[in-house]
Amino acid sequence: MSISRTKLPVIQTTALPPLYAAWIDELLAGPIPRETDATCDDCAMLSDAGTEAESGETFFNPETKCCAYVPELPNYLVGRMLADRDAAFAKGRATVVERLQAGVGVTPLGMEPPPIFSVLYGRSSATLFGQSRSLRCPHYLADEGGRCGVWKHRASVCATWHCKYVRGATGMTFWQTLHKLLSTIEQSLARWCVHELDPGGDALKLLFPLGEESARTHVDPHALDGAPEPKKQRALWGNWAGREAEFYQECARLVELLKWPDVLALSDPAARIYARMTGAAYGQLMSAELPKALKVGSFRCDRLKGDTQVINSMELPHALLEALPYFDGRPTQHALAAIRAERGIILHRALVRKLVDFQILVSCEQPSGAS
Ligand code: SF4
Ligand code: SF4
Repeated sequence: MSISRTKLPVIQTTALPPLYAAWIDELLAGPIPRETDATCDDCAMLSDAGTEAESGETFFNPETKCCAYVPELPNYLVGRMLADRDAAFAKGRATVVERLQAGVGVTPLGMEPPPIFSVLYGRSSATLFGQSRSLRCPHYLADEGGRCGVWKHRASVCATWHCKYVRGATGMTFWQTLHKLLSTIEQSLARWCVHELDPGGDALKLLFPLGEESARTHVDPHALDGAPEPKKQRALWGNWAGREAEFYQECARLVELLKWPDVLALSDPAARIYARMTGAAYGQLMSAELPKALKVGSFRCDRLKGDTQVINSMELPHALLEALPYFDGRPTQHALAAIRAERGIILHRALVRKLVDFQILVSCEQPSGAS
């Protein structure tokens, strides 16, 4: 018997938004493999009617998919959205203009999620994410099959999150590290833009409050009702009050001029740490090496499916499950040879690599759970 893996990652150009792709291309040694299992055009997280009850799998609400979430948008990305006059982007741009006019969470630092989202999501993200239509993103185009209106300029959280990873935990670690890097940069550059464009001292005091005054610890009742106080909004925008769209586009222009070394130099030092970690995680993502010695990880059997068992999202035939104990810390090559000799099973390297990616097997050289 020969057990192999049919699906290998397809190397394509990165699907990051163009601004971020230009930066990250300078950081990484090659293109990022596309996460082909996260099939957004035909969402991988929706069930056929009745499937959920049978399998016990979690599915998303078809009216939200993974967009029961409102991302923070840094000022320069808002500016890119407003400046984009491509006809194909018109609907997405309109959603940004609508938020700009409503004014809720609209500050020189960018666009914040509305208070109702922050409070509810902060309380129960596990049950609401992917499920609640009330928390659906304002840039979700429901009348276009749930397309993201701002995909071309989406923020780091939306650019790096995937519901499924071709390389399991190895892929998830790479994308999570890249998210840390990009979100650190987003926060740093948004602040840098405010500094460069100077809304004035009074506005800065409101934007960077001290201690308990933080807007995040208080819900503004006017913003909650969708009608922020005009006086407070003017104070927040200072010298730029009444010219908010112009401010955002000026931020986009400033950031557009930056090369990758400038981005790192202007960002919090944590960005340089995350850049290094992202490079290392990319090395893991692109590596097909097998650890020298393996042991069985700790996992839960999700469910039975015909002759297979679903473990950590992988469907494993029983014959393969029975061979796992051969990975007991002896050299990997010895374990493979013993499985072949005693069980008559040839385990291909790609399948063993996948078992490692999904943490069914773990390296003896690192703590279990690390990837
Ligand atoms: S990333 Fe979101 S839209 Fe894409 S397949 Fe996954 S749940 Fe569906
Ligand atoms: S910005 Fe786009 S991808 Fe992100 S939550 Fe909104 S609709 Fe979804």
